[in-house]
Amino acid sequence: MTSVMRNIVVKKIKVSKALSKSGLPEYDYSLNPYIGCLHGCRYCYAIDFTKGDPARRWGEIVYVKINLPEILRKEVKIYRRGVVGISTITDPYQSIEYKYNITRRSLEILLENRFRVSIQTKSPLVLRDLDILERYKDLVEVGFTITTLDETKKRFIEPWTPGAESLMYALKRLSEKKISTWIFVGPIIPDVNDDINDLMRILDLARETGSEIIFDYFRSHVGSIDMMRKYFDQSVIKKILSKDYLKWWNNLINILMKYCSEANIRCVTADEYWKNISRRRVGEEKDLLFFAEK
Ligand code: SF4
Repeated sequence: MTSVMRNIVVKKIKVSKALSKSGLPEYDYSLNPYIGCLHGCRYCYAIDFTKGDPARRWGEIVYVKINLPEILRKEVKIYRRGVVGISTITDPYQSIEYKYNITRRSLEILLENRFRVSIQTKSPLVLRDLDILERYKDLVEVGFTITTLDETKKRFIEPWTPGAESLMYALKRLSEKKISTWIFVGPIIPDVNDDINDLMRILDLARETGSEIIFDYFRSHVGSIDMMRKYFDQSVIKKILSKDYLKWWNNLINILMKYCSEANIRCVTADEYWKNISRRRVGEEKDLLFFAEK
């Protein structure tokens, strides 16, 4: 564990909407219970989609959308049913969720109203909501972002996230309960978390838990590159911005895909996944044609 202290600021705010139209092709809506993220990952893209103080002091300031469940309760009665991504620009199970329960209450409202939900997190706190997930397992899937299982590396790139062992445990537990799971292995950053043995361990975890894998490389955004410059060796940034960057990625992905196919693990790159998105919707596509009752 890192021993550096942080000055954390948590501020409650009121919002006028809960669901947003998602920019990601796999979701109809996104729901972000918080603005900012206390996990403070040092490559985070969300910084580029966040405004104000939480973006300026990434990982230290978070706004809690305190009235979000009340707003959501009204929206689910009038919005067309669809797939909701929780969350897309913050971690829905960062530590303050333990106190505020915004994610839990939203999850319950969405599922009671037959919206489909895809959760993405780096936290085993999702297990707290196992009762809801089990009740609605036909409507829900849980994805874990795992960039490394090497704890030293993890402390460096994702300093405030829960440990790798606890994530492995959470994934196994959900899989035992027959809840659909997937692992997002990304971003993979050259010379940071591209060690083949480490990645193979993640693939073994996927095989053990029956999870699908989505691989992705680091995609440059202005804010995340600026943040990375503070922490990462300049040679890493140079590599990411070099014209050979995709060559490095293609070589790596060929090795990983070969292993996936030999080990019979469902693996896909994020680019392929987005291209063939209809096959990965949570549940049946036809349900998206239904409308929520007024
Ligand atoms: S958990 Fe996700 S949203 Fe939070 S800091 Fe890390 S990458 Fe960003």
